[in-house]
Amino acid sequence: MNADRPSAEKRAVVLLSGGLDSATVAAIARAEGYAIVALTFDYGQRHRAELVAAERVARAVGAVRHVVMPMDLRRFGGSALTSDIPVPKDRGSDEIGRGIPITYVPARNTIFLSFALALAEVEAAADIFIGANARDYSGYPDCRPDYIAAFERMANLAIAEAVEGRLKIRIRAPLMELGKGDIIRRGLALGVDYGLTRSCYDPDASGQACGRCDACLLRLKGFSEAGIPDPAPYAG
Ligand SMILES: [Zn+2]
Repeated sequence: MNADRPSAEKRAVVLLSGGLDSATVAAIARAEGYAIVALTFDYGQRHRAELVAAERVARAVGAVRHVVMPMDLRRFGGSALTSDIPVPKDRGSDEIGRGIPITYVPARNTIFLSFALALAEVEAAADIFIGANARDYSGYPDCRPDYIAAFERMANLAIAEAVEGRLKIRIRAPLMELGKGDIIRRGLALGVDYGLTRSCYDPDASGQACGRCDACLLRLKGFSEAGIPDPAPYAG
């Protein structure tokens, strides 16, 4: 099935949202010597500016291929990101860290990783990088180490290239235990331009961040910890 497979080049599939975490993960993968196959989902998210950001980041990191997969999760709804439920604003960090917020998208990482696995098999890429983080998103069940480890076990039972012994899939989540400030410092050391990235769940029509949703507040906290201003544009 892989007669037209690219040769010795070491490839990795990187889930690239256009946000700060996945841009950092892409830079880590590149620093480890991988040619990057970026995968972005146009899932009907209300924060469309993220998709434009993903294209910028894919170019900046020199991705050999960037797939933007359409997948309308608004058909399901069930999240503030994919329905008309308002995005929570001005929550304190205690509140953000507690429980599963309404911005959780049902089974999102399982959906995304499943597509990444299919792409990894086609590309003969053993490594799949994801920006999952258990520190700031402790409420998201699909951002925990146990979940990532279980998906990896499943992946190696699921695809022909693995069961026939040609590929051993590894799910790489290098940000799992890092705080936002550490993530930003790591990315800056690798030359990430965070001005290319967008994190806001609820940007205005021109793509400017609200500065008040959980994603904005965590991001701003991270830049404050790292001791530099956020180069992304904010409304007002
Ligand atoms: Zn925001």
